Amino acid sequence: MSKKHIVIIPGDGIGEEITSAAIRVLERVTNKAGLTLTYEKQLAGGAAIDQYGVPLPDSVIRAAKQADAVLLGAVGGPKWDHVPPEIRAEKAILGLRKELGLYANLRPVRVSPALIEYSPLKAEAIYGVDILLVRELSSGIYYGQKCESEIIDGIEQASDVEVYTVPEVSRIMHLACQAAQLRKKQVLSVDKANVLATSRLWRRTVNQVASEYADIQLKHMYVDNCAMQLVLAPKQFDVIVTNNLFGDILSDEAAVLTGSIGMLPSASLGNGTGLYEPIHGSAPDIAGLGLANPVGTILSAAMLLRYSLGAPELAEQIEQAVDKVLAEGYRTADLYKSGATKVSTDEMAGLIEAQLG
Ligand code: NAD
Repeated sequence: MSKKHIVIIPGDGIGEEITSAAIRVLERVTNKAGLTLTYEKQLAGGAAIDQYGVPLPDSVIRAAKQADAVLLGAVGGPKWDHVPPEIRAEKAILGLRKELGLYANLRPVRVSPALIEYSPLKAEAIYGVDILLVRELSSGIYYGQKCESEIIDGIEQASDVEVYTVPEVSRIMHLACQAAQLRKKQVLSVDKANVLATSRLWRRTVNQVASEYADIQLKHMYVDNCAMQLVLAPKQFDVIVTNNLFGDILSDEAAVLTGSIGMLPSASLGNGTGLYEPIHGSAPDIAGLGLANPVGTILSAAMLLRYSLGAPELAEQIEQAVDKVLAEGYRTADLYKSGATKVSTDEMAGLIEAQLG
């Protein structure tokens, strides 16, 4: 029987409730499949500031590096808004990304058929949408040389430099192609190659890598067109791969297509341990009230099975169980409308667990 070790970082706010819900579901699906998971809870974010005076203790980094995967709730909240900037709760996530060498952020955008009415798009436009957005996470303009202010010829200016290297583009494209092999085998690379030199290097490198994957169909699109196509005809997309800046913007645009922040998972991958977390924050306004939607975290656990534990069939079981529970009309408070059955965080986890048999 296979054994894997998972570090759980609940974080702050609703973090404890939503990670507990995800563990229940993980336990059920893996026990049935004969896969043994061991869990190790660690503090990060505000909880670690309270306990250790820093948001990401070295012991957490060590534990994360040794684990097969990390599942995180969310960090931060008003209690820690006034701590010095160098120990802000959010630093825990940036620190984990850096220490684990995470260079790719994966965000699936898929609408459960039962939740189509929550999308700002028309039902026929959103029905069947299933996109995986792969964003380069560790380089590009966010990390380039910056000048906050300088005076040239009497005029104040600022600058941010974008740099991409061939190995940086190459590794994210390999990851996108491998993710596409688990899906419809289509990769769309998004750039601005008509204007930017970094985008032209991106495009050349992406073409080169794609030539190693005979089963992958590669297309290119300019980022401005992609932003438009995402709202006009999102069904055309399978895997989208793009740089840090474009990915930051497009992933939020794509997320809003689903209309429900509590439902969306994410994965950050690199060469070692992967980090899995819902896209929402710690929702301090509803913490401890049983109102949090645990589905984003439960679907993050499904991604963990798919990308870190090599168990895509177990991931699919969880995704189907979520769809079934929603189709039966169960809703947490954030998605409740009259005619539905309102359930708490725990009850939602229990219903999904029960669907898994
Ligand atoms: P948020 O995502 O926590 O909350 C925004 C709104 O969505 C709130 O009304 C909240 O109640 C609701 N919401 C969020 N997740 C929900 C869920 N699972 N179920 C039901 N409702 C949900 O964003 P915010 O209010 O801007 O930030 C709160 C704190 O979280 C801040 O300290 C922020 O810095 C932090 N944050 C952390 C992360 C992270 O850990 N990755 C991401 C974003 C924000």
